[in-house]
Amino acid sequence: MQIENIFLKDSLYSQYDLESLSDEELLSIIFYFENSDYTDKLKTLDSYCSVCKKETTFISKESKREALYETLSQINETIIGGKLDLKTSLEKFGTFERVFKCPRPLSDESHDQIFFFRIKNSELIKVGQTPSIADLENRSIYKYRALDESIYQEFNRAIGLASHGIGVGSFVYLRRIVEKHIVAPKLQTLIEEGTNTAEEIYNADFKKKIEIAKTLLPPFLVENKKIYSILSKGVHELEEQECRDFFPVLKTSIEIILDERIEQIEREKKNRLISVELNKFK
Ligand SMILES: [Zn+2]
Repeated sequence: MQIENIFLKDSLYSQYDLESLSDEELLSIIFYFENSDYTDKLKTLDSYCSVCKKETTFISKESKREALYETLSQINETIIGGKLDLKTSLEKFGTFERVFKCPRPLSDESHDQIFFFRIKNSELIKVGQTPSIADLENRSIYKYRALDESIYQEFNRAIGLASHGIGVGSFVYLRRIVEKHIVAPKLQTLIEEGTNTAEEIYNADFKKKIEIAKTLLPPFLVENKKIYSILSKGVHELEEQECRDFFPVLKTSIEIILDERIEQIEREKKNRLISVELNKFK
């Protein structure tokens, strides 16, 4: 497991079985103390500073409370002595706060990225985070505004819902992007060109529709029809947790599809320009 993902990718209220984390990993997630053997695995975090509007390597501040430090040295002894169960003792702590500072000149606390954790029933839970994942993700999908404002907005909503742990709801928006904004306009083109009749298209299921419009669609979608099956299944049959688990891979798939769409449009534009130029030769 990449522990950075817990901070920057996973939704709020994600739970991690303590059994899946080593003591060092767990301590490095919830604490940071300079020169400690057990809490130094996560000193920096490569993220995006929403104030500077730049990619930034954030640097961890030390965990604050003196009491925590004392307990930590007890825990250190505990680990060395192997007498007391670390994970049970951490459960009594309440919340753990990690703060990462933007190192750019003149940056102050308003640039901080802050994360809260709690340990309960042998699970580590991420219970708070600011800026939100949706805010951090925003920038990566901003380019899709050029494609279509509603694609951007619906993608943004999908990510926002997923970052709050709402799985099925996020799938609805991803599905709308594929169905309404990617495939439907191409089917419309085929009808207008007279290649297919409206009835033919109306009667086809979605897989068939992709097949019909395949030459006009982004290749990744055509080659991976499963994307739509998972989205469709998610809305009707999958559990919340299953949708949440599938979300990152579907999100990346949609990004690939939209990137291909942008490339397609740019290529068409270039082709048109060049053929205009070529036609100038008489
Ligand atoms: Zn900053």
